[in-house]
Amino acid sequence: MAEFDYDYFVIGAGSGGVRSSRIAAGHGARVGLAEEHRVGGTCVIRGCVPKKLLVYGAHFAEDLVDARRFGWNIEGKSFDWDCLRDNVLSEVDRLEEAYKSTLTSHDVSLHEGRAVLADKHTVEVDGKSFTAKYILIATGSHPGTFPCEGSELAITSNDVFHLEKLPKRIVIAGGGYIANEFAGIFNELGVDVTIANRSDRLLRGYDHSVVERLQHISTVKGIKFLYNAPFEKITRDADGVIRIVIPGEGEKEGQVLETDLLLAAIGRPANTKGLGLEEVGVELKDNGAIKVDAASRTNIDNIYAVGDVTDRVQLTPVAIREGHAVADTLFGDNPWTVDHSCVPSAVFSHPPIASVGLTESQARDTLGGVEIFTSDFRAMKNVLADRNERSLYKLIVDSATDKLVGAHLIGPDAPEIMQGLAIAVKAGLTKKQVDETIAIHPTMAEELVLMR
Ligand code: NDP
Repeated sequence: MAEFDYDYFVIGAGSGGVRSSRIAAGHGARVGLAEEHRVGGTCVIRGCVPKKLLVYGAHFAEDLVDARRFGWNIEGKSFDWDCLRDNVLSEVDRLEEAYKSTLTSHDVSLHEGRAVLADKHTVEVDGKSFTAKYILIATGSHPGTFPCEGSELAITSNDVFHLEKLPKRIVIAGGGYIANEFAGIFNELGVDVTIANRSDRLLRGYDHSVVERLQHISTVKGIKFLYNAPFEKITRDADGVIRIVIPGEGEKEGQVLETDLLLAAIGRPANTKGLGLEEVGVELKDNGAIKVDAASRTNIDNIYAVGDVTDRVQLTPVAIREGHAVADTLFGDNPWTVDHSCVPSAVFSHPPIASVGLTESQARDTLGGVEIFTSDFRAMKNVLADRNERSLYKLIVDSATDKLVGAHLIGPDAPEIMQGLAIAVKAGLTKKQVDETIAIHPTMAEELVLMR
């Protein structure tokens, strides 16, 4: 009889957990997987996927306006939130089923319930105990809330996909990915949007030029920005109006923001509470995330952790890679680790931003000499549409080696264009090699090979 019930028990059926289970099972491991909510996790159920579908839905607002300059006369257009919301939610249901059937076809045993560690080899799921040689924690993260009175009046990105109706006004707290993505979606759908951030920085970590361009375009579209605006207190009147008290400081007067809906988009803390981690002795970082080494191993030799719960890079494709590496390492006789440098990313704002490698300021701080190439242009389609919205592409080159060390784009389809460019940056191609590449004309992406 086997020493353990399973070779591998995975807690959390999100992107990292599902990939790791499936790969481990493919290598012949006996795999158990526990999920307390829905299979698919944040990305599929309440994150990247439904968000991107809302971005598509919202973008029609601009397309339908622009269509007129291309000869299309669309009478009586109107928008039906219920239709978009319900279609998006049905797609999420479909994907969840697809994920479940992948698990079944790979012989992964799914346990629907909350898993808690009882000891380093034992997991309890709703009263049932399972032992496993190795355990993977892939429990993800959850939306953070304000440390102020009335914080329960704010909704989070979990709720936004289920709104009964669109509000007239929304205040979005935060200046990161989620704030800028939903600001774009709501603005396109005709909602009055204010972004209120505690500091004076939007999208920390992104290149300042593309962030400034996004802020400029967003402002022209009617999105309002409020900086250095921490919340002191949130209340709701009998008439449903939410009032947010923003304290004054020094010369700056305090103010009260009124809104119909408040969305908190202020980061995502790791899901580590109540999992038995402390009891088993798994070390956590100061922010509550699990500490792991390059191989995603915790301080307990048979317990691993991947994805948001480790707060290394909170991105789905990174969690997937990490989960895959752990499975290959433990069960595939193929140890490898994930390279967390040079991870491309995108913000699905209107227009989107995409980025890879060093920003200009990071490059100036870390390299001897840096050359910056930019192209500031209006996409052909925007010109004919009479849409005064300019794209900005920036390439960062290490002067000593001529290698491309960073690329930052804002403009239509920037994330689609970035994926190919990220290969060049990751591969360490030189600016000369980029210049030797012949343009595809007429495209926006050709700007990348025409910057001199
Ligand atoms: P981000 O980390 O992107 O941004 C958090 C924002 O909230 C910052 O502007 C930060 O301000 C502010 N903030 C942090 N704590 C507080 C607080 N206590 N009170 C008020 N403001 C606060 O977080 P998001 O929630 O937008 O997204 C979470 C993560 O999910 C992202 O980091 C990203 O990794 C991932 N994600 C990725 C997406 C994509 O790939 N397209 C889409 C959505 C999410 P300051 O900068 O001043 O600290």
